[in-house]
Amino acid sequence: MTRYIRAAFLLVFLVTSTACSSHQSIRYVTLDELKASLPANPVVAGFDIDDTVLFSSPGFHYGMTNHDGPDGTNKYGPNPLGSAAFWNDMNGNFDNFSLPKESGKALIAMHSSRGDKIIFITARDSSKASILPKIIMQDFRISAPDIVFTCNTPKKDFISSNHVGIYYGDADSDMEQAISANARPVRVKRSPLSNNRTSYQKVGGYGEEVLIDSEN
Ligand SMILES: [Mg+2]
Repeated sequence: MTRYIRAAFLLVFLVTSTACSSHQSIRYVTLDELKASLPANPVVAGFDIDDTVLFSSPGFHYGMTNHDGPDGTNKYGPNPLGSAAFWNDMNGNFDNFSLPKESGKALIAMHSSRGDKIIFITARDSSKASILPKIIMQDFRISAPDIVFTCNTPKKDFISSNHVGIYYGDADSDMEQAISANARPVRVKRSPLSNNRTSYQKVGGYGEEVLIDSEN
């Protein structure tokens, strides 16, 4: 009987310690903790756009899944993300249907209140038409926002050359690019409704801070 009790204790210990260690491995932070950790002097805060500050899945969903081309094909062709027409529509119109994330609003307001410079660095392609500056101005109350389109090239050089000290992103690749540019990486979580399933396998896995409740 004693043996069974000992085994039960061992089992409870193992389960508890495993649960604790998996919690400890992710460094969750609140907005207040982030704010308190920043240097007194203004910094340059860099932000990814899609799934970080904007829930832009509606436009991407249409782009990737529509049947509005000839004979029911995708109107942007077999590779919408390589289509200039798609990016013209995405940047120039579909962002009217993108929702600002509450966590993005709070982060940007916090950095604005400190007098930090804010820059948006997105892997989106640039396009002739773009309402992104207007949308970001309206949603996040930033006048004349600085937006860099890297056109799917690595963000590292843009993070470095703009002297970004802290970079917020949802994707694993955002964390990798921030780390290689010597910026402080902070993870914003994706909404469970996001249709982007790529580059999101290692949340907290780079030792980066993960903003609590940043899904919305
Ligand atoms: Mg993103």
